[in-house]
This record gives sequence, structure tokens and C-alpha cells, in this order.
Amino acid sequence: MEMVNIKINGQAVSVPSNYTILEAARSVGIEIPTLCYLKDVSKTGSCRMCIVEVVGARNLQAACVYPVSEGMEVLTNTQKVRDARRINLELLLSNHDRKCLTCARNQNCELQKLADELGVTDITYMGERNEYDVDEVSPSIVRDNNKCVLCRRCVSACKTIQTVSVIDATERGFKTTIASPFNKSLGEVPCVNCGQCIVACPTGALREKDNTDDVWAAINDPDRYVVVQTAPAVRVGLGEEFGYEIGTPVTGKMAAALRRMGFDGVFDTDTGADLTIMEEGTEFIERLQNGGKLPMITSCSPGWIKFCEHNFPDFLDNLSSCKSPHQMFGAILKTYYAEKMGIDPKKMFVVSVMPCVAKKFESGRPEMEVNSLRDVDAVISTRELAKMIKESGILFNKLPDEKFDNPFEEASGAGVIFGATGGVMEAALRTVVEVLEGKSFDKLDYEAVRGTEGIKEATLTVAGTEVKVAVVSGLGNARKLLNDIRDGKANYHFIEVMACPGGCVTGGGQPIVDSSIRMDIDLKAKRAAGLYAEDASLPVRKSHENPDIKLLYSEFLEKPGSHKSHELLHTHYTARSKF
Ligand code: SF4
Ligand code: SF4
Ligand code: SF4
Repeated sequence: MEMVNIKINGQAVSVPSNYTILEAARSVGIEIPTLCYLKDVSKTGSCRMCIVEVVGARNLQAACVYPVSEGMEVLTNTQKVRDARRINLELLLSNHDRKCLTCARNQNCELQKLADELGVTDITYMGERNEYDVDEVSPSIVRDNNKCVLCRRCVSACKTIQTVSVIDATERGFKTTIASPFNKSLGEVPCVNCGQCIVACPTGALREKDNTDDVWAAINDPDRYVVVQTAPAVRVGLGEEFGYEIGTPVTGKMAAALRRMGFDGVFDTDTGADLTIMEEGTEFIERLQNGGKLPMITSCSPGWIKFCEHNFPDFLDNLSSCKSPHQMFGAILKTYYAEKMGIDPKKMFVVSVMPCVAKKFESGRPEMEVNSLRDVDAVISTRELAKMIKESGILFNKLPDEKFDNPFEEASGAGVIFGATGGVMEAALRTVVEVLEGKSFDKLDYEAVRGTEGIKEATLTVAGTEVKVAVVSGLGNARKLLNDIRDGKANYHFIEVMACPGGCVTGGGQPIVDSSIRMDIDLKAKRAAGLYAEDASLPVRKSHENPDIKLLYSEFLEKPGSHKSHELLHTHYTARSKF
């Protein structure tokens, strides 16, 4: 890598020639404030918060987009720079609702943090203010433009990363706003509810639809039997809300907290993930051996499913018919578990804690019920769970580690890694390869499908047959891969698709990490590492060896792909309009 020599605040620095001033300053411990910049997502230089003096240049320059060059001299901390940044921020705040105390992002807001760091103690400019209706139509996402700073990070997430493009800046000047086509609500356009716009937003302008009151109401109702299940990725996100290092698994404390909040049953969606592998693996083998539709594509990610329904209806037959793990597990809780425990399933209320806001939409789909009983009654995000734990007065860090309830006390390691991109494929391969080969293997780690790259491929020889697999995360990558398949440029037997870049660990319902922290770490890799560590620590690491799953089949479902399995655990999809 070619290096260049520059000076920042008089300090001589040697940095790669492709760095921006922002990256160069950060590499020597100088922080420059940002707002519209988000590493790997958005880089427009439009908010003017990162302006610096470049000696010889006429105007102040935006450090996030200005490239370094040999001999450059940069000043990041002059009075001129500080004054200009503060004026820009005060102008933003003059057209902002500033209701921090009741805001979803209070104490985790980059705008609030900037006001503090830049020493804004008064609002100097008291001009006209835009007022907008809050958009609450979507089952997953709430949009409040009164808190928007027009940084366009959400637009980049939706348009560039996810290639969904249902939000953009409209109008001009003071009237500029972020909106959907024809000013429709997010619930009325082909938004796939992935929530990547929420985790990109520096303020409270985008948030999940809050379902915590529904959950409290169910817990408070003495006639309800309320059970909760937690998705794999939640355990490596939740701790961040309580001061743990990013990616620290807090599985035992999470189970303990849920019990103390008043849930009657505390379960792990990882068991649902093991069940998914049994059903999906069987479906794949059946398609492979009997000339079924290939490539088979996973169906765990509801954002991906809706994207496929809107944009690739010709691939709907390629999707696995399996419901996602939490929907499968909800159906099992209301049948097998209810029967075993002597509970009236009509009184049972199933809550799913998910790293994902698209699951809120998914649980409300008409297909997701059996005998007029919804599989899942409420979905809350990791962030909402953290909020409920805090409301309960539970000192999370002081909790003991506890186990999930019996039955289904411990899922396999294969179920745990579902939360990382490549995890579903690896879990499926651990089972499918052993079933096809007819023997057990010690080697369980499929390194080729691990890692945070957006598109991964591997070719395996299984029982004499070549099996080509691909793993995709992020909808822009999914679009590219499917277009390549359509054009005959790529061909696979089995594909894993996750809507969110990095998979569920960085889903739209996970704790929101400040952009300055995201500059220094690989968030996807850090959270995924927590899941792989938990997988490696477990005694059972293959779905088909999970004793609770074996019992479930022998006592209730009979065998994977049985009539009963199809009734409870499988579904179908609907082609939807592109606009
Ligand atoms: S978005 Fe930030 S600054 Fe605005 S009201 Fe919410 S917490 Fe306060
Ligand atoms: S939820 Fe996803 S698809 Fe919908 S607006 Fe946000 S980024 Fe776009
Ligand atoms: S909604 Fe959030 S991310 Fe989008 S432009 Fe407004 S402040 Fe930025």
C-alpha cells in the first residue's frame, strides 16, 4: 500500500494514500465529529459536522470525504473550525423537536451527543420549524421526521445496501424531507421491514413499532399463560445494553431476567432452529434426489422473503416451504407443549424476542396460524427487551446464569450459529452431509461459509455428488446473486439468504451502536464470534442429535416432512406488487 506523509494539528503522520482526512486523524487518536457519515453505509459530506481546515484550501473541508495527499497540512481543532461546527449544529437543532426525555433514542442519540460534545447549551436560532405527522402504519417501523436531521444514512442503507429504495429525500431547501414515493406511508410501499434504516439512523427519527405494552398486558392477565422465546442473535446483542463488551453472550442472565419479569415459560428459539434444520434438510435432500426445484433457498429471514415476493416472484418455488424458526417453535408450543403441560392453547400467549423488526410483520402474516391460533402473538426486538428489563428494576449484571425451561432446555450449537451469516448453511451441512453419507463426522466447522463477506460460495462432494452452495447477506447481494442465476452466470444447489448484512447479529432490532464505535470495529464479526464461541462450548452441536428434537419427533411429529410437520411447520409465499 502506497503511503503519504501529512501533518494533522502539527503532528507528522504517515497513512495509506487511499485514506480520507477522517480516517487519517482517527488512526492517530484524533476524533473528528460526524453525523451523516456511517462506515460501510454512507459517506456524503453533507452535514458539515466534520469540517476541518486544510492549509491552502479556500473553504473548510468535510473530512469524511476529503482524500489525503502528500504534504497536506490539516487543522482539526481551531476556533474557526469549532465555531463553524457549532453553528451548523445549532441550525440543525433549530428545526428539531428536541423532546429528548420522551425520545426512543434518549442517551443513545448521536445528535444529543454532538450537542453535548460541541458545547451547545442554548438554541440561538429560533426560526420557523417544520412539523410532520408521525408515520405509524407499518407493523415494524415508525418514522418521525420531526427528529430527522436529513443525514440520509437511512437512504443509503435502503437504496445502496439493500437496493429496496423506498425512501429518499424529496422537496428542496427548508422543505426537504425523507419520504416514500407519493408521500405514502412505509406500510404502503414495498418496504421489506428489515430495519437497516433504523440501525443506520443517528437520531430517534426511525424506530421499531413498540409492542412492549402488549407483552406487559399479557403478563398481567391472570388468565394468560405467557411463554417467551429468544432468537440466537439476541444473546450476543442484549449485553451491550447493560455495559457488556460488544458480542458478549449473556444467555444465562437473559433466561434469568425473563423468568423474573413474569413469563410462565422461558424458551430458546435455537430449538426452533434445530427443528428448521430437520425439516429444511429433509426438504433439500428430497429435492436433490428426486429432481425437485433447485437451487433451494432458505426462508428464515422475513425481510428476504418479502423482498423475494416483491422483486423475484419467479424464485418463489425455490424457497424452502419451512416457516422461520420462531414461527415453527410457536406452533410447537401451542400444540405439543400445551398438550404435554395440560394448558389450553387458546390461553397461551407466545412472545418472540428477535434481533429483527421484520419478524413483527411476519408474525402477523395470515399464513402464520394453525387452527385459527396464531403461532406467535407478539414480537419484541432486543432493544425492547432491554427496555422491559430496565423497567422491571432488574439489575441485569447481578443476575445468576440460569437455563431455559424444560423441555427444550438446551438446543444444539447448530441452532446457536443461525444468528450469523453462513450459520444456517453450516447447521444444515452438519446434518445433511451425515444423512447422505450415512455416518457421523468429527469435523463440524465449515470454514468456507463463515466470515462476514456479503457473498460466499463452496463446493462439497457429498456421497459422490457435487453440491454447490452459496451464502448471501444483505439484499443488494441477494439481488446480484439472483440476477446472476437468472442470467445463467451462476448455478447452485442450496443458497442461504439473510436480509441483513452480516445476518441476524446485525439485524434491525439489535442494539444501535454509535457510528464512532463502528469506525473502529467489525460489528458483524464481533457479535458472530460470540455465537461461534457458544456453539463450540456445547455438548451437542448437530441439530439431529438434539435429544429434545428426537423426542419431539418420536412423540409427536413422527418424522421430518410428515403430514403433521407440514400442517404445523411449513407455509407458502405470495407474489406482491413491485410498487
Ligand atoms: S433524536 Fe436525539 S436530540 Fe432529538 S429528541 Fe431524540 S434524543 Fe433528543
Ligand atoms: S426497513 Fe429496510 S426496506 Fe424498509 S425503509 Fe428501512 S431499509 Fe428500506
Ligand atoms: S431518518 Fe434518520 S437516518 Fe434518515 S435522514 Fe433522517 S436522521 Fe438521517
